[in-house]
Parts: sequence; structure tokens; C-alpha cells
Amino acid sequence: MAAIEMRNIVKEYGDGFKAVNDVSIDIADGEFMILVGPSGCGKSTLLRMIVGLEDITGGDMLIGGNRVNEKAPRDRNLSMVFQNYALYPHLSVFENIAFPLRLKKGVPEEEIRQRVEEAAATLELTEHLQRKPANLSGGQRQRVAMGRAIVRQADAFLFDEPLSNLDAKLRGQMRTEISRMQRRLGTTTVYVTHDQTEAMTLGDRVAVLRKGVLQQVASPRELYEQPVNLFVAGFIGSPPMNFLPAVVDGARLRLPFFELDLDDELARRVAGHDLLLAGIRPEYFESARGLDKDHGSTFRARVDVTEWLGDSQYAYLPFEAPEQIAKQLSELAAELDSEALRTQVVASIDSMTRLRENTEA
Ligand code: ATP
Repeated sequence: MAAIEMRNIVKEYGDGFKAVNDVSIDIADGEFMILVGPSGCGKSTLLRMIVGLEDITGGDMLIGGNRVNEKAPRDRNLSMVFQNYALYPHLSVFENIAFPLRLKKGVPEEEIRQRVEEAAATLELTEHLQRKPANLSGGQRQRVAMGRAIVRQADAFLFDEPLSNLDAKLRGQMRTEISRMQRRLGTTTVYVTHDQTEAMTLGDRVAVLRKGVLQQVASPRELYEQPVNLFVAGFIGSPPMNFLPAVVDGARLRLPFFELDLDDELARRVAGHDLLLAGIRPEYFESARGLDKDHGSTFRARVDVTEWLGDSQYAYLPFEAPEQIAKQLSELAAELDSEALRTQVVASIDSMTRLRENTEA
């Protein structure tokens, strides 16, 4: 096993375009790190540079303390699982999993059999070992690809969107399996995804990328509760955070359609600003049914559309201004029609200027 250190990594393609721009991330030995971001942010390129499938334009890549920039992929002792599984169609499940061991040369047949059977048992593939990939379901094929990765006892596992070809239910199951397997083996893992549920549930830490630039590396909880900028605040969380322009008035915040009492900590944080952007997570709105209608943070809203999801409901409140407001979430959404809502918490506050920078970028 090994730590992976990326120091000021740059990937420049022919025309001077930087797909990865000065990214530094330290991944501890045994850590499960997620690389997440919208399409084209450079996450796959970064993963491919770790494994050696892409040349590094600038910076240093260290694995287990050794610089590997010029090392061939086969000399890095890493296992990669691809989105399209990359199985050999003419080989059985057994031989697909055994493949990396046969490549190594000199591994005794008995050891190969034992390790393949162990991997197959972990992944519940024992009864399918003699089948060909064409006769497996998508989830089983994905497990074979994972079997091939774990049989090698590599220093690290690298996953490139391994679940994106599976249906929602299987994705959920495989997510749990990957998580369990990683905990059991304790192998350093880097996992690329654009799916924030995977990002938030799988990783010890999550690195958020945007346009080749690293935005924040933090635990899922920290990303959610303390996003460092508007991009991270808007990217993490579903439905996304609402952003509202706000005017500071002492310990009160004036938003377009209601006012908010600030607690001491928030009042301290906003002191010195006139104009702010308030970020309010959808779950921080709640029905004020039964509350005094003159309560400080209460406002009335018409519910345009509601979506029922079983354990929660989304209520869309079509405010004319500002247009940024998209979704509100409330467990009581169905009851909200012409009810007052009470806003409880302002989750994140940033400056107006920053919003403009982000919008224009
Ligand atoms: P996705 O989720 O869509 O796979 P990604 O975040 O993994 O996206 P990358 O595949 O790493 O993104 O690509 C990052 C950027 O580099 C993109 O803008 C892409 O168009 C560009 N890019 C990737 N490969 C090349 C190449 N061989 N030549 C030029 N540009 C490339």
C-alpha cells in the first residue's frame, strides 16, 4: 500500500489548454479519496496521470514517496477499474480475474487459483467462475472488473466512474460493496465520479475540481457545511443550495422577500459587509404552520409545484425576484400552499462580488 502525493500537477494539451492546472493533493496510505466535478473538469485526466496512462506536463507525482512521473504504468503497481469494465470476452470469469497474476509470470498455479477464488468469494462470483462475460449481468461484469483489480494486491486502486453503466438500484448495491471491500482491504483508493451521492457516501475525503483547478479537499461533512466558495456550495447538495442577495442591517439580514434574525456567530461573520449573498440549503426552510405569523423570519409563499419522494418532498416557490431561487425542500411541502414558511438557518454566506466572478467565469 502507498500514499499518493500530487504536487503542483499540470496537464497541458497541444494548444496550451490546461486540463489540469496546478493541482496538489495528498492522499494518505489507506485513504479513500474521491475526485469529483462537472464534465470536463479534469478528474479523469488526473487519475490517468496517477496510473501513468497520461504524460505529466508539470509537477511531481509521488507514490509511496517515490517520484513516478517517468515510470511506465506496469511499474507503478496500481490497479485500475474502468467505466466500460475492459473484460476479455473470450476468457472465463476465472481467467479474467487471474489475468494480472498470469502477466506477472512465475506465480504458482495453486496460488493463482487460491487468490482468484478468494476474490470471487469476496465479490460473490464463485458460482459464475466458468462463465464468459457475455453471459453476465452488468453488475456481475463490474464485479469481475473489481476482482481483477483486487487479486493483484496492488499499492492502490483507481476507479474511473465504475458504476455509471449500471441502473440506480445496482449502483446503490455496488457502492456499498466497494465501500465494504475498501474498508476490509484498507487499500489506498482514488475514485473518479461526477455523481455527488457517490462522492459524499464513499470517500473519506472528497476533492472538488472545476475547470482543471482544485477548489476544496475535505470530508463530505465539511464540504457540505463549510464550502469554501460558491461553486462548491452550489455543486454539493441536492437539490442545490439557494442563493439570495442580502443586505446587512445590524443583526438582521434583509433578503428579497423576508428578513432574518442572525445569531451572534453569523452577525460576527457578516459584520463589515453591506451586500452579501446568502446561501440557504433547501432543508433549512420549514413550514411555519402554527407559528406566530409575525415571527421575525417568517414569510408567505405560494407553492407552485411539489414533488413527493417518499421520505421528503420538494416544494418549488416561484418568487419573481430573485430568479436564482429554484427549489425548496420541506417535509411538509404538501401543506405549504399559502402557508407561511420560516427560515431557520443561513448555511453559507459569501460576497456579492464573488457571485459575479463565478457567474461570468
Ligand atoms: P468527464 O466526466 O466528462 O469524463 P472529466 O472531468 O473526466 O470529464 P477529462 O476527461 O479529464 O474531464 O478532460 C478534461 C479536459 O481536457 C476536457 O476539457 C477535455 O476536453 C480535455 N481533453 C481530454 N483529453 C484531451 C486530449 N487528448 N486532447 C485535448 N484535450 C483533451
